[in-house]
Amino acid sequence: MAGPPSYKAPTGTHDVLPPQSGRWASLIARFAAAAGRAGYGLVVNPVFEDVEVFRRVGEGTDIVRKEMYEFEDKGGRRLALRPEGTAPVVRAFVQHRPPVPWKVWYAAPGFRYERPQAGRYRQHHQLGVEAIGSADPDVDVEVVALAWRFLAGLGLQRTILLLNSMGDPESRAAYVEDLRAFLRGRRAELAPEDREKVDDHPMRVLDSKRAATRAVTREAPRISDHLTPSATGHFSRVQAGLSDLGVPFALEPRLVRGLDYYTHTTFEIQSSALDAAQNALGGGGRYDGLVEALGGPPTPGIGFGIGIERVLLACDAEATFTVGDARVDAWVIDVTGGAAARALTHELREAGVAADRGFDDRSMKAQMKAAGRSGARVALIVGEQEAASSTVTLRDLATSEQRTIARADVVAEVRAALDKEPR
Ligand code: AMP
Repeated sequence: MAGPPSYKAPTGTHDVLPPQSGRWASLIARFAAAAGRAGYGLVVNPVFEDVEVFRRVGEGTDIVRKEMYEFEDKGGRRLALRPEGTAPVVRAFVQHRPPVPWKVWYAAPGFRYERPQAGRYRQHHQLGVEAIGSADPDVDVEVVALAWRFLAGLGLQRTILLLNSMGDPESRAAYVEDLRAFLRGRRAELAPEDREKVDDHPMRVLDSKRAATRAVTREAPRISDHLTPSATGHFSRVQAGLSDLGVPFALEPRLVRGLDYYTHTTFEIQSSALDAAQNALGGGGRYDGLVEALGGPPTPGIGFGIGIERVLLACDAEATFTVGDARVDAWVIDVTGGAAARALTHELREAGVAADRGFDDRSMKAQMKAAGRSGARVALIVGEQEAASSTVTLRDLATSEQRTIARADVVAEVRAALDKEPR
């Protein structure tokens, strides 16, 4: 006989519940504050887009070829759940043509049909920024430094910033030829999944995580040997700017974004506290050809995406950014039916004091227990006696000291009691 249905979150997805969600909310709030201080405004895009938006950007990538959640809606449109954050923002830029530089941040989910494991999910969440409209190397510095400082501010120390330059289209063209010739010679040694990329997308082979491929690419020609003087100039200014700001980095010539739209700076921030296959906390780079590829005027841009789940895993591993339970300050106990609790919690909340109460008219004992569990610092007790004399008993839940106060003074007394304690 079939039992009642038992539903679970789909494979590779997860629910975020209190108290973990408190940490999640505070991570996003910190990012919003950091981005806001740097002049970035929030952008909210749809969770799905015309599938072509992503195809244009990620053609040749595993993300687009194998991992995209594509579907047809009831109107016959081909859509895809966003696998990453840059393409929707650039599509919005092209559609709305805001004044440049256009600096925006987002917190949004990404969907990839990957093999789920720790730190790799089918729905994950990213914090990101995009700065569109300026080719100034100082924008690269601002964007990279923003990512770095945000992670450092969480207390993460086992992080490393890897930096590379893809050069300009001229640098790349020369390099791609060289790389393709090298990879053709070593094709048989590559992981089978990467062999087919050699002819059309040789640069994609470089960011493969597969061990056999990595053994080959370690010996591959480097893009740094193919940079034009102007690309070298841009890259030097980025490095000097980061050094000026005290942002440490290591050059990593294999760090590429394999598509034609990506140019100049690329970077990734890794955590040595996580397993190597999932150690990227975030990454990004310059994409001076992307706006044009999505139908806009030639416009430079740069951005990054940071994975929320990965960052929190790294915080766990380094025992930092631990946020305690969200607690209320005051708990109201009412054994006279609940109307007093309703009025008092309302008054306290209106006055800016976090307050909560029990429901269902439970016994004094049960309500005291709930108050203790809540972590509140004070309890306000209303029994028959208090109700009759327009008073309330104010109890310090840490010391169990209590005294009677006038009903009319509750807000002032609670505030005074909370201020007295160290924060
Ligand atoms: P990417 O667009 O691949 O550079 O991803 C940016 C960041 O998002 C990565 O550095 C990870 O922190 C995170 N990320 C990407 N894919 C996943 C995934 N499947 N599960 C969890 N986090 C992910």
